[in-house]
Amino acid sequence: MIDFTISDELAALRDEIRAFVTEKVIPYETDPRLTRHGPTEEMRTELVELAREAGLLTFQAPNRFGGREPSHVEQAVLFEAAGWSTLGPVALNCAAPDEGNMFLLSKIANEAQVEEFLVPVIDGRQRSVFAMTEPGGAGSDPNQLSTEAVFDGTDYVINGRKWLITGANGARTWIIMARLAPNEHGPDGPTLFLCDGQTPGIEIERVMNTMDRNYVEGHGVVVFNNLRLPASALLGEPGQALRYAQLRLAPARLTHCMRWLGAASRAQSIAIEHARARTAFGKPLGEHQGVSFMIADNEIALQQCRLAIWWACWTLDGGARGRHESSMVKAYVSEELFKVADRCVQILGGMGISDETPVGMIFSDMRAFRLYDGPTEVHKYAIARQVLRDPK
Ligand SMILES: Cc1cc2nc3c(=O)[nH]c(=O)nc-3n(C[C@H](O)[C@H](O)[C@H](O)COP(=O)(O)OP(=O)(O)OC[C@H]3O[C@@H](n4cnc5c(N)ncnc54)[C@H](O)[C@@H]3O)c2cc1C
Repeated sequence: MIDFTISDELAALRDEIRAFVTEKVIPYETDPRLTRHGPTEEMRTELVELAREAGLLTFQAPNRFGGREPSHVEQAVLFEAAGWSTLGPVALNCAAPDEGNMFLLSKIANEAQVEEFLVPVIDGRQRSVFAMTEPGGAGSDPNQLSTEAVFDGTDYVINGRKWLITGANGARTWIIMARLAPNEHGPDGPTLFLCDGQTPGIEIERVMNTMDRNYVEGHGVVVFNNLRLPASALLGEPGQALRYAQLRLAPARLTHCMRWLGAASRAQSIAIEHARARTAFGKPLGEHQGVSFMIADNEIALQQCRLAIWWACWTLDGGARGRHESSMVKAYVSEELFKVADRCVQILGGMGISDETPVGMIFSDMRAFRLYDGPTEVHKYAIARQVLRDPK
């Protein structure tokens, strides 16, 4: 039976996170170190230290790494609180891509890899990347992967070009997806590798100019130029990258939904304040039916999205892989929350597209949410294929 009762303990932690974000993090939203390429590393470090002081850093980590190991439904409550500012997840170390990477590494990295590459990320001392997408290859269809790894029995040599790689600039823990060429030593095909971002052969060509500002150091174009890695750099089993990516994607899609739900709720709260205070044609904006309908539509959408997220999380907590469920919820929530943000901009009038409030930033940051971790159309394609194959 579905039971979404929030325990007193969970409510207390949620309130603590929300108060931390409101009091300590929101003042950074106007810091010049929040650049066109996201928060700088210096700003991230400062924010992380605040969360460490507050005892809230990486609260989602497994117990064995000092975290609180919340269930998926509990995460939904806590990540929404963290998302009240787009910088909240950065401070608390539960932002993408680190959060999804930590999850994946905690599942498939061996003990030596955990010590070298996962523990420093959980501790907030190091950032991580997941390098899959390519300008002409892997994207919506990861089977188009063209970056190649050649194994000679001792080392892997990787060549290829990636883009949209979040946080590439300055990150140390690198998860790289490459197609392992047929070899006499074992299986081939899409494979994950784990290495230090300072390894010779990893070249950051440039950081792309994008619409969003909330990912640390933006999104890089990266070239692997004869990147030579030892056999120990293999992450998991050769040829299994797409299966591991799926393992990461179902929960990672949902944590994106949770964080953006927090940001959209914040935009709604600002729009409501404005609709109460600003007048036009002799009365507050909120008393005009057109505006009140937008506020009501937002309230309905926010609650529907919350319930959809909690439902998918509940299936994961019950042991399901949640691939289909997380696809449905990601497609729905990303479309609905974007409409919420758009209506908030509208209610604010011209101020809505400016930096006078965070609503304009939330709106432009949220546009990308409909693209990453599967564009809406790809999720719909997968959902339709599933129901056509297996009608109820
Ligand atoms: C902000 C942001 C951060 C990102 N961070 C990372 C990262 O850290 N690491 C990484 O590897 N990648 C990252 N990406 C890339 C992301 O994973 C890809 O953008 C996504 O997989 C889509 O691939 P593509 O951009 O190549 O689009 P394409 O594959 O070229 O698709 C373009 C469009 O075609 C349509 N389409 C595709 N397939 C179908 C279909 N089956 N049916 C109908 N329509 C379809 C969709 O409308 C889609 O938007 C990031 C992207 C963004 C926007």
